[in-house]
Amino acid sequence: MKEYKFLDLGLANKHLEDELKQAACRVIESGWYLHGPETKSLEKELAEMCGTKHCIGVSNGLDALRLIFKAYIHMGKLHEGDKVIVQANTYIASVLSITDNGLIPVLCEPSESTLNIDSSKVEALIDDDVKAIMVVHLYGTPCWDEKLRAITEKHHLLVIEDNAQAIGAKAEAVGINGHNITCGLGHASAISFYPTKNLGALGDAGAVLTSDETLAAAVKALANYGSDRRYHNIYQGYNCRLDEIQAAMLRVKLRHLDEETERRNKIAATFSQHITNPLVVTPCIFPGMVQVWHQYVVRVQNRDAFRDYLLSNGIHTDVHYATPPHKQPCYAEMAYCQFPITEKMASEVVSLPIASPISIDDAIAIADVINKFQG
Ligand SMILES: *Cc1c(COP(=O)(O)O)cnc(C)c1O
Repeated sequence: MKEYKFLDLGLANKHLEDELKQAACRVIESGWYLHGPETKSLEKELAEMCGTKHCIGVSNGLDALRLIFKAYIHMGKLHEGDKVIVQANTYIASVLSITDNGLIPVLCEPSESTLNIDSSKVEALIDDDVKAIMVVHLYGTPCWDEKLRAITEKHHLLVIEDNAQAIGAKAEAVGINGHNITCGLGHASAISFYPTKNLGALGDAGAVLTSDETLAAAVKALANYGSDRRYHNIYQGYNCRLDEIQAAMLRVKLRHLDEETERRNKIAATFSQHITNPLVVTPCIFPGMVQVWHQYVVRVQNRDAFRDYLLSNGIHTDVHYATPPHKQPCYAEMAYCQFPITEKMASEVVSLPIASPISIDDAIAIADVINKFQG
């Protein structure tokens, strides 16, 4: 029986091994390990790709988000106690970045078709304290449409993108800067380069992108002890730097990102075409967007039985995410909240293997096994 691991990073990086080793050697020999030429080049390449004026490499995705909010607070654009709308079924890091800054998350139900924020439910949540919205491009599907754009403009909301899962994706509508690529849609965006992400480092890394010069300067200073120039500190800052080795690894992988997105799209299309079991709901493919399939998430009511059945056939799966943020012990104050769609999704979602390098024939074989699942 063939074994399909959910994700084997060593295998996924195998075809780049020579290039990665060369790049690592280049950094080792350069003697420059932080804030050097690799980081500068990566920042330039990412900003160009996303159509933003600035990109600041940072330590990880959560720090990227935290720094955006901290910078807005220092700029006087947000104040402690302000509210930020965010989708209730996101990964907890989105919410952590809000509460870490003394801001209040206002959770919004997702749409069952996009699994992203339900844009028809956003406006009802807006009151005078709501100053921003975090759009999370969950699983690699862009979270942006004409409706969201109109609402955010009408209510003058800051738009912060959590783009941890969708680098290279394109939305159906253009954002506030006239681009439709994720990271270039809102006022500021955060990327995670956690190793399992579509553009993954070989350790922790992240980035902040924006076309707002003041915000970029504030994030840059905050991430470097609050220092705007050497030994001069304008903020009580942090150390959230990106290192040169990771920047060099990411530059290698960035050159292959389009291939990776294409590969994932082919596998996703194959799954969606071949999975015909009525007990299994496949994710929507939206022709007007570019989705990048960080995860290929199906929904099944009898999830445990489904996962056990697949595993007994050598197919490893995962769940993103079984417990939504408002049900986590750290957010006990939200435990009374009810988000029936979020909770239903949390009980049904199953991620199929798509990140490991599987072939079209493998995807068809997996679909055939899924079609024989009887509940
Ligand atoms: C991975 C992830 C993050 C956090 O990124 P790290 O680099 O792990 O800190 C934030 N938001 C979402 C949606 C993520 O998937």
